[in-house]
Amino acid sequence: MSDVRNVIIIGSGPAGYTAAVYSARAELKPLVFEGSVTAGGALMNTTDVENFPGFPDGIMGPDLMDNMRKQAERFGAELIADDVVEVDLRANPKVIKTHTDTYYAKSVILAMGSRYRELGLDSEKRLSGHGVSWCATCDGFFFRNKDIVVVGGGDTAMEEANFLTRFGRMVTVVHRRDTLRASKIMQDRAFANDKIRFVWDSEVSDVIGDAKVEAVKLRNVKSGEESELATDALFIAIGHEPRTELVKGQIDLDENGYIKVAHPSTATNIEGVFAAGDVVDHTYRQAITAAGTGCAASLDSERWLANNE
Ligand code: FAD
Repeated sequence: MSDVRNVIIIGSGPAGYTAAVYSARAELKPLVFEGSVTAGGALMNTTDVENFPGFPDGIMGPDLMDNMRKQAERFGAELIADDVVEVDLRANPKVIKTHTDTYYAKSVILAMGSRYRELGLDSEKRLSGHGVSWCATCDGFFFRNKDIVVVGGGDTAMEEANFLTRFGRMVTVVHRRDTLRASKIMQDRAFANDKIRFVWDSEVSDVIGDAKVEAVKLRNVKSGEESELATDALFIAIGHEPRTELVKGQIDLDENGYIKVAHPSTATNIEGVFAAGDVVDHTYRQAITAAGTGCAASLDSERWLANNE
């Protein structure tokens, strides 16, 4: 077979690019598939990142990702801005296909990330990073003494709402039903917090504001009545999905669809296949943890290659 790569990396977020930096510096000449639309991953959709170590004044998400990309290229990683549409990970060598070409590799690092569920509003996209957020850990700090709305009724929404009361003046939870889906302990904690109030049976039908969030439009799902609620921020916590369609049926996934790895390593159930970042992690979901596991996946694949030459 003509050109069998040492390692192919699928995904271009902090996990994929960090794996690429390490693999390139180990002289493995990695090939990275970045995706055709969102090269750079989830941080391309945000503004200031203030919690990635090394940037005392913070850095814009797209700039951080551009730096990571350049760092990978500097050491010889080959980057292709295309989508992988099919894989055969059990084959030897492993087969990776785009719409137009087929590639082969001895080992593969899966770093496809995950997607936060969206409300599906144009205004939500437009104001992402300008008051609309999917991550309280990332963005809560920006809303000291401000009014905050959280959408959702599950554990994540309650956790985010409780966390955000550290910063916000008032946190309003908007939920489509009249009861929460969250576990009892999370509900009790939220109900006991006097900085949290609830708007039941309601959904956010629009986000209002030109340069930043100023209010949300609410629609009562029972009466159809519409109202406006002034707020500085909207945190959306209605779920999260790993991008594992590509490997479903080949790789072991957990009950929520995340790739299972043999912690603390990044090894999947298939020899020579490793996984890193948010496609594995439903607990931390941070750029730095994704980068950390991307590093681990590269070191794991390097050792696996050395043992299997
Ligand atoms: P991702 O960043 O999701 O990257 C995965 C990439 O793989 C994507 O580009 C995708 O297109 C590509 N891909 C997927 N499938 C394929 C395929 N088949 N072929 C080719 N490419 C593919 N974290 C922080 O630490 N600090 C913050 O301030 C912060 N702010 C955030 C703001 C927003 C709006 C969002 C959405 C997230 C934020 N996060 C933040 C979380 C952080 O972005 C993620 O935890 C991190 O990006 C996960 O990295 P990853 O490499 O696992 O995946």
